[in-house]
Amino acid sequence: MTVRAPEEIEAEHRVLLVSIFATLGSVLLVAFGVLAMSTGRAVLATVLLTTAVLCLSLMLYSRLTGDFRNVSFLLSALAFLLASFLIMHGGVEGTGAYFAFAIVIIMVMAGFTNIRVTMSICGLFLVAVAMGLFGSVSQHWVYPYSFVEKVLILVALAALMLLAIVSEWIRLRSYSATVDIHEQVCVDARHDALTKLLNRRGLEGALAALPPPRFPASLAILDLDHFKAVNDTHGHDAGDRAISAFARHLRSSVRAQDIVCRWGGEEFVLVITDAQCAEALAIVDDIRMDFARTTLPIGDNGLRLTFSAGLASLESAGAFERALADADQSLYRAKNDGRNHLQVAEADEMPLHSDDDTPPSGSAVVPSNLAAKPPNIIPV
Ligand code: GH3
Ligand code: MG
Ligand code: MG
Repeated sequence: MTVRAPEEIEAEHRVLLVSIFATLGSVLLVAFGVLAMSTGRAVLATVLLTTAVLCLSLMLYSRLTGDFRNVSFLLSALAFLLASFLIMHGGVEGTGAYFAFAIVIIMVMAGFTNIRVTMSICGLFLVAVAMGLFGSVSQHWVYPYSFVEKVLILVALAALMLLAIVSEWIRLRSYSATVDIHEQVCVDARHDALTKLLNRRGLEGALAALPPPRFPASLAILDLDHFKAVNDTHGHDAGDRAISAFARHLRSSVRAQDIVCRWGGEEFVLVITDAQCAEALAIVDDIRMDFARTTLPIGDNGLRLTFSAGLASLESAGAFERALADADQSLYRAKNDGRNHLQVAEADEMPLHSDDDTPPSGSAVVPSNLAAKPPNIIPV
């Protein structure tokens, strides 16, 4: 099932508005225009038929360009002018005002973007109509409504516009809430809840978005050593805190252009962009040494952990699966080498091993006072 973004739904709403208003509007305008012409009302007929032509042109333009947004604003402006004219002119025996009521609803719906702008436009409309009806300058071409009729027209217009604004505002608010939720769901779907790092799906997206100059890159898969012992000794919550601390350590150790992903459990994937394997190896090794020296605030004496990692080169986003399999095999060898090791998957498979790293292999959960000696990775 294709999931549509709220913006797409709102865009469809505009398309629907433009299509309905422009189609129905031009059909009715042509019908009334022809009627007006046949009864000798030249001014009314001209305005109605001209508006019909403008409506049809706008619809055609929107179909050709796909610009329904601007066209709906232009339709709103057209409705503004037509409604003002019909009230002043009176249409047939003063009935123009009745049609103007329907047209101001179109004006609000087609032009609504936010409540302030729309209220200002409606206010402007009311002022223009009030000046037309009560002003002394142009009374010779304003339909001779009685004073009470003029007041009633203004009051009815104000009430109608207010209701239309409120209903559009409520619709826009629920639409905005849908947009916010949609954005949050999209973010959540691509991030890990515990560490806030990218998850697997997020990694796929980030890789696909990497520009070509970021390649060749290197991929590293990192796995905390003997992590089960952390859970067994300190509890699952402490394990979670250790995973979060490791995630923060990784994110702060690489450049913004590099990708950090929690692949699952206590396994992480790093994509060191624009870096050959040798360069990435040095970077990951620095991270490894830094992390081995870092005391995590877990347990009475703090806790030091290590990780092992496998690296492989990543020539392009499409080569991800291959690189991941290569890096995973290298990780397996790094674990077999005694942990707190890096292995790189290259044709000659040059291993990196630590001679006297901390903590010693086989003891993942090392109190900080036992793990003070700096690790020493020697590339072979
Ligand atoms: P190794 O050195 O071989 O990697 O040993 P390990 O104990 O780390 O073994 P492995 O990687 O197979 O197991 C990872 C353990 O991490 C298993 C699970 O109990 C724990 N784990 C996985 N995800 C989480 C998590 O989100 N929170 C916590 N607290 N523990 C987790
Ligand atoms: Mg693991
Ligand atoms: Mg592990």
